[in-house]
Amino acid sequence: MQERATGDVDTLLETAIAVLDKLVSFPSISSVSNRDVVDYICEYLSGFGATIERLPSPEQEKDNLWISFGEGSEGGLVLSGHIDVVPVTGQEWTRPPFSLTREGGKVYGRGTTDMKGFVACAMAAATLFQHGSLRHPVHLAITFDEEVGCLGARELVEFLKQRGIRPAAIFVGEPTSMAVVDRHKGSVGFTTEIVGKAAHSSQVHLGQSAIQIAGELIGALTSLGAHQATKQADEAFPYAYPSINVGAITGGQVRNIVAANCAFDWEIRPILPGQLVDIRQAFECHVSEKLETYRASGHLVPSIVTRLVYDTPPLVGDPQSQATALAMKFAGQNRALAVSYGTEAGIYQEAGFVTVVCGPGDIQQAHAPDEWIEIDQLHRCLDFMERLADYARETGQ
Ligand SMILES: [Zn+2]
Repeated sequence: MQERATGDVDTLLETAIAVLDKLVSFPSISSVSNRDVVDYICEYLSGFGATIERLPSPEQEKDNLWISFGEGSEGGLVLSGHIDVVPVTGQEWTRPPFSLTREGGKVYGRGTTDMKGFVACAMAAATLFQHGSLRHPVHLAITFDEEVGCLGARELVEFLKQRGIRPAAIFVGEPTSMAVVDRHKGSVGFTTEIVGKAAHSSQVHLGQSAIQIAGELIGALTSLGAHQATKQADEAFPYAYPSINVGAITGGQVRNIVAANCAFDWEIRPILPGQLVDIRQAFECHVSEKLETYRASGHLVPSIVTRLVYDTPPLVGDPQSQATALAMKFAGQNRALAVSYGTEAGIYQEAGFVTVVCGPGDIQQAHAPDEWIEIDQLHRCLDFMERLADYARETGQ
């Protein structure tokens, strides 16, 4: 296996870089349709005997892809990657973002790390999956709109459930520098909108300030965040507790008018799903009590509405996880780590699938200007793919 691996991986590496060059040339920012890049992926993979299913989104000009090598809906190994990228506007790039620049041991371009590099490796590895009969089917799951709330992964999960597809493991190839990651925080975004009543500021008693109410609610969230930090620390994370952040606020018109409107954007980053539930309930309780106080006092009752904007659940570690055991085997690692950023893995796990994160590139490069990936990382990812292909071919174990 080792002898054959070396030569093969070098050839695969050049293929992966050529595929990555092509993938980067599609500016597949989340706000635009992804159908051109999906066309390319389908066309490329059509030569490898795979079953290719385009899964159009009912709501958007976008497709997920579900590509299968081998037969069967049970026990498959899934390589999952998103094909959308974040915008480059407002960033200082010194190299073209949408064509691949190879310099030294790196390739530059938007998405090289997050995460077209992984997708390119999975496509290059198609040649490994097409030969002979597979004991375990291998699937590529290519999703849209990860960067704006993992929308594609949610649709893919519904597809898997409807079809009764139950893979043994889903490997999410977000950049971990090929470390095996079995835990991450979630990221759940909200917008709270408050409607009060305008009045001249010389007669504040006739109005009701939405800004003032927002200030009180933000104070409540601050207290909730501080309360989380009195609980058991989880030292695996740089910030060892679930966090709450209010990141943006808008409201009011001018200094001398009582503000009728205010809205603020905030998020919770839970370590465990229960923490998310607790914080949301505590906040909603606080809002209800506040409204009740207004009602009881005969004041005008303001409108306070909180909308869920995105919901990426946390990934919770499971020492018995077959996905983690296999990822460690394929990546040549003997432990699994925790990271702070969210991925689609939380959505797969929440839906009952066994999943783990392992992919090429350094997360520091994700979303950055002059995004790059080390070619050695692509090499290591292809090593992973090759071991995965060997496992898929061998007698099940
Ligand atoms: Zn990503």
